[in-house]
Amino acid sequence: MYLHVIGSGAGGSPGSRRWRAANLLEAEGGLAVVDCGVGCHYRLSDRGLLTEIDYVFVTHSHMDHFLGLPEALFQAHIEGRRKKLVVVAPKIVARSIEAVSPNLLKAVNYQIEIRQAAPGPLLELPGLKVEAAQACHHTAEEAYAYRLEGGGTSLLFTGDTSPNCGPVRRLGRGVDVLIHEATCNEQNAEICAKYAHTTTLQAVREADAAGAHLLVLTHIDDGFNPTIYRDVKNIGRKDVVIAEDNMWLRI
Ligand SMILES: [Zn+2]
Repeated sequence: MYLHVIGSGAGGSPGSRRWRAANLLEAEGGLAVVDCGVGCHYRLSDRGLLTEIDYVFVTHSHMDHFLGLPEALFQAHIEGRRKKLVVVAPKIVARSIEAVSPNLLKAVNYQIEIRQAAPGPLLELPGLKVEAAQACHHTAEEAYAYRLEGGGTSLLFTGDTSPNCGPVRRLGRGVDVLIHEATCNEQNAEICAKYAHTTTLQAVREADAAGAHLLVLTHIDDGFNPTIYRDVKNIGRKDVVIAEDNMWLRI
């Protein structure tokens, strides 16, 4: 499988170096986008994949995780998409798309099936299996972590969450690659706790709890986590990677 980090930033990330949260997983069983923050359609369009992606999984309804989706849906139409797209998202995301563009879902030349996200198995195809668990992110009405498996490899996207989150930990047990949010550094741990986010070192502990072979730190806010490179260097582990926009990983 291949992981393309489309956006490695958070809602408050200043500047344009880190775009809002978005990822593309290329699995044997299909192409899955996990979160689609503002701008995600540009990078999918650059690769000619807006007409090709099969699934979009939205972790929660905070703007930095889905506000790029209406544009991606429309741009896919413009680029000639014909095949059905399945979007799995919290209920409020569908309502938000309709508010942004009331006719979008009817006007495009392809079928968009929006499914309500829920804990438990969501998809079971040869080469792509997806399961969800509730994340601990009380600032959103609903928040999910997604575990995707294909070709004998598994990844867990935590989305936004506090650490020590029981359902996320259970879903992540034994995962090969943990893609964990790291919004803050340790100096900003209180802010992270208040808004239900995770620090760099807390994410490393979660990777250890899961027994993951690789930890990818993402959803990085350069304002609240300006020391992430130094902190990861000090940890001195080769199994911890800091996500960058347009970074590729072969998993
Ligand atoms: Zn959030």
